[in-house]
Amino acid sequence: MFVSDLQHFLDMPDDAPGPARRMAEHLTMIVRAASAGDTGLAWASALTCIRRPNHRACPGNLVLRRVDIPSSIEWQCADCGDDGVISGWDHTPFDLRRSDTQQTTDSGVDVTVSPEVASTLRSLTLLDTISEHIVFRARASACD
Ligand SMILES: [Zn+2]
Repeated sequence: MFVSDLQHFLDMPDDAPGPARRMAEHLTMIVRAASAGDTGLAWASALTCIRRPNHRACPGNLVLRRVDIPSSIEWQCADCGDDGVISGWDHTPFDLRRSDTQQTTDSGVDVTVSPEVASTLRSLTLLDTISEHIVFRARASACD
């Protein structure tokens, strides 16, 4: 299990090694998804595993579970079982939890997109807070 404190990955210098920067990006993606989703229950996010067993991308989606008190985020790949727990994420810019006053805009409409489109949406940097919340709440679903 990969135990991490997000605080150690914030404000990484530009010359930080590639693997450290990739891990920071991976962890911040997990925090954004887990904090945009519901608390308490484990759910299969649209985030994919970054492991490459035998030089092939692991096809698994990450199952996330967020606990708010004390704050922690558990993640596990549904395919290879790679897992970890993240602390130190609350009240960072990647914490997408919403205040009660923002809860009224949920439309309840389901939109299905391909994993590639979901990944592209996550890479957009100019999303407003509500759009970012919707993008990172994306759940994995079985394909037909
Ligand atoms: Zn995996």
